[in-house]
Amino acid sequence: MARIDARRAMASVERLAGFGTRHTLSETTSETRGIGAARRWLRAELEACAGVEASLEAFAAPPMARLPDGAEIVNVVGVLRGSMPEAAERRYYVVGHYDTINGDRMDPTRDAPGANDDASGTVVVLECARALAGMKLDATIVFLCTAAEEQGLVGARFHADAARGRKELILGVLSNDIVGDPSVGYVTMPGQEAMASDTFVRVFSEGVPRNPSAAELARIRQLGAESDSPSRQLARFVSYVAQREATLRPRLVFRQDRFLRGGDHSAFNDAGFAGVRFTVPAEDYSRQHVDVTERDGKPYGDVASFVSGSYVASVAKLNVATLVHLANAPRPPGNPRMITAQLETGTTLRWEKSPEPDVAGYEVVWRETTAADWQGVIDVGDVTEHAVDVSKDNFFFGVRAYDKEGYRSPAAFAGASER
Ligand SMILES: [Zn+2]
Repeated sequence: MARIDARRAMASVERLAGFGTRHTLSETTSETRGIGAARRWLRAELEACAGVEASLEAFAAPPMARLPDGAEIVNVVGVLRGSMPEAAERRYYVVGHYDTINGDRMDPTRDAPGANDDASGTVVVLECARALAGMKLDATIVFLCTAAEEQGLVGARFHADAARGRKELILGVLSNDIVGDPSVGYVTMPGQEAMASDTFVRVFSEGVPRNPSAAELARIRQLGAESDSPSRQLARFVSYVAQREATLRPRLVFRQDRFLRGGDHSAFNDAGFAGVRFTVPAEDYSRQHVDVTERDGKPYGDVASFVSGSYVASVAKLNVATLVHLANAPRPPGNPRMITAQLETGTTLRWEKSPEPDVAGYEVVWRETTAADWQGVIDVGDVTEHAVDVSKDNFFFGVRAYDKEGYRSPAAFAGASER
């Protein structure tokens, strides 16, 4: 976290905004303006990070509503390979979209600086790569800057679907979209203590996945697992890391995204991957998706002067800490379950060992069925079964693995099974 640099982050936001427009259909040959110049700069910045393999992922998007003639879409990808052979196939993503729009979604020529939306998130990706440069982590980190988010998550969808096609083991996606401007006051509920808006970041996560199969839905209903998707466990893990590392505070929102808005994490969710979205505490719509102008003395537009480098750096620190904990912790134990072979007043939990060699043991986590986050932890050691003298009817359980260095995996939610 000490390697995250607020001044460098701010300079990078200004650099991205300085390309004038990064509209997906803007020009690609200029060295100073347009999305082509922006992605070449991003690729060079990732390439400069020791150990990061940087590349451009180009594909032909078919004609669609916001791309009437189709287009070549180009994502910028950096990969820091995991150094533990048994863990390297696990992948964790930090994502930002580098494309922008102004007040006319279809206008590729006039200015669209997109400093907050989403140079800020793109810079979180860069700062994570810069901070992790040369480091050895157990699992693989992917730094992804997507294009055509504003046309309907086109870049992220292509990438996520291709990864699913290759059967890649993506276990967590941190999407940062609008993480630069904390200046908008946060309106608290009457009677609630006000929170300064630059002291936290919202983290959105889906509960029930989109289009669950009938069997999945039946399982969710039986277990009462509406709030225990892998994405929700990832959000709780962000909270755990934030407490442990004393970072900027995440405010978890148990909802996939804001109303009338979307983001790249949803493209990963739709492809079956756990993913969450980081966003500022409150938004000012006169600074998003509008032309840069001034009316009656009020400035409009997504310009860099509204972005705080220190806030972007705080969000980047939370991201990089989460990535390190995710990558270095063992893979979560497989198939944790409460044994329901017969009626009994106690609860027996069983799970499969995490397949990685540095596992030191397991923890059973529990909470009341009405609680938002895990409330208790039982260190059970290096075993695959544990019994507790309380009824499974009244609690939710999860199991997580920890290694010799004390890194803990996200909790795997316990289902129910006869064996
Ligand atoms: Zn955005």
